[in-house]
Amino acid sequence: MSLYHPKEAPISEPFPCPECGKDSMKRKIENYILEDGSIIRRLKHYKCLSCGSRFFDDDAMHRIQEERFRHSLKGAAG
Ligand SMILES: [Zn+2]
Repeated sequence: MSLYHPKEAPISEPFPCPECGKDSMKRKIENYILEDGSIIRRLKHYKCLSCGSRFFDDDAMHRIQEERFRHSLKGAAG
């Protein structure tokens, strides 16, 4: 049971990219491929239109961690 309801952070777009500093961070919904090759479909995240670096909010990080965990379970079987 959760005591609070997480809301979407009111981030105004575009916002500055932590990598290149340009106001080019925009919300994106794209398939994201992890370094181990597993795919997260339609992951909501932010991407810099200028340098291409990605920014993940809490929701996105959570999905990535879940996917990594699932993949590590499968990987043990070979
Ligand atoms: Zn950038």
